[in-house]
Amino acid sequence: MTNISRRDLLKSSAVTAAGATAGFATIASASPSHGHDHKHGHKSSKRVVIVGGGIGGATAAQYLKKMDSDIEVTLIEANQNYHTCFMSNEVIGGVRPIDSIEFNYDKLAEKGVKVIFDSVTDIDPEAQTVTTAGGKKVPYDRAIVSPGIDFKYDDIEGYSKEVSDTSIPHAWKAGPQTALLLKQLQEMKDGGTFVIVTPPNPFRCPPGPYERASLVAAYFKKHKPNSKIVILDPKEKFSKFGLFMDGWKRHYGYGTDKSIITWIGKDKGGAVSKVDVATKTVTAEAGDFKADVLNIIPPQQAGPIAFDTGLVGDLDWCSVDHKTFESTIHKNIHVIGDASIASPMPKSGYSANSQAKVCAAAIASSLNGVPMPDPSWVNTCYSIIAPQDGVSVAMVYAYKDGKIIKVKGSGGLTGAYNKEDRKREELYAHSWFNNITADIFG
Ligand SMILES: Cc1cc2nc3c(=O)[nH]c(=O)nc-3n(C[C@H](O)[C@H](O)[C@H](O)COP(=O)(O)OP(=O)(O)OC[C@H]3O[C@@H](n4cnc5c(N)ncnc54)[C@H](O)[C@@H]3O)c2cc1C
Repeated sequence: MTNISRRDLLKSSAVTAAGATAGFATIASASPSHGHDHKHGHKSSKRVVIVGGGIGGATAAQYLKKMDSDIEVTLIEANQNYHTCFMSNEVIGGVRPIDSIEFNYDKLAEKGVKVIFDSVTDIDPEAQTVTTAGGKKVPYDRAIVSPGIDFKYDDIEGYSKEVSDTSIPHAWKAGPQTALLLKQLQEMKDGGTFVIVTPPNPFRCPPGPYERASLVAAYFKKHKPNSKIVILDPKEKFSKFGLFMDGWKRHYGYGTDKSIITWIGKDKGGAVSKVDVATKTVTAEAGDFKADVLNIIPPQQAGPIAFDTGLVGDLDWCSVDHKTFESTIHKNIHVIGDASIASPMPKSGYSANSQAKVCAAAIASSLNGVPMPDPSWVNTCYSIIAPQDGVSVAMVYAYKDGKIIKVKGSGGLTGAYNKEDRKREELYAHSWFNNITADIFG
């Protein structure tokens, strides 16, 4: 029996930072046992159940199958279609149709993933079973939980899930609320005010609210030039702060009395505590703001199933072993994506995709009795400030002393404005979208 070397496993799995989709041998074929229990002469059990078929869950399903086709992978997802949040701001800005961000699970099923459309209501860490609303009980050897986020509606008096679905969308899970916000903006009179209430840290997609403001500003500039955007923010600063400020000055008159965008941060009283739904008026420390179209993005926490399963402990998010993403609370349950605590990685789709590959490699290694090498991860977050003006922040992460760390000098932020570079960054953003969605759902 030859043991797989660390270098070979690194090459063979998707643990490398780039997470390359091609060119790796399977972990199973490199493993000493090929999944067979030699002592008893029959196949040992390799059942993985994945809860949530979003970015993290669907990636993990694909990569487990790529790494070891003998693993029985069951993906349980509440909805038949998935809308990516990435590029949903372009939908809201009216520059891309909503069906361009819609994906399904046909390709995963073709690749041997068993896809069940149902809601998971319980995970029993002792019996190692997952229960669904439809009455199924699915046993697992390892579970992966990637449920995304939930909202703390109660933190803003007057706000609720029902209000978000019907009149004041958060549109922070893409789908019907994305379409609702688009419709409201298109129906808004010229001269109206669009108010965005942003959440405190940590939250899904740190640059997202500011990209949303930018793309709606681009829409107003072209179609409703007398309209204004007010961003109410409980934070002093935000992701890519300097790049957004510079872009807003160049495109939207930021800092002048003609500015389309007004940003009210923590120091100026941007924290919001209350909403009057009927008049779409929010109460911030700075005073009351009446909106024609109102977008409240509430404070966030891990998806409900993480709470129901006791994966959060006393926190709002799930603490995990950074090498394997196994929960520090429940053995054999791994949590990836936005629901996990993976700081310094941001809560982004690219992070979830990268974590899913590391987690899949950890599980495939463990089920095949081969050691897991030290992983690394990658993230890039693109934002479009205006048509042909894209920016990004990128970073490679390594594993050191039990923690995820930033690799010094590996990443960076878009530099000072240069027309050609910014045009290219917008192209990169769109090609990243095509590539990552093919990696996840293709
Ligand atoms: C406006 C916006 C723009 C963004 N732009 C970018 C970007 O440019 N780049 C980037 O990298 N990231 C971006 N993101 C962030 C990205 O969308 C998230 O970080 C990513 O979706 C996280 O993946 P996840 O697997 O943790 O959760 P999700 O993708 O939300 O997946 C969770 C899935 O689990 C399912 N689920 C939950 N509970 C259950 C249950 N009990 N039973 C069955 N199914 C369940 C849900 O239906 C869902 O499909 C953006 C986000 C927003 C809001």
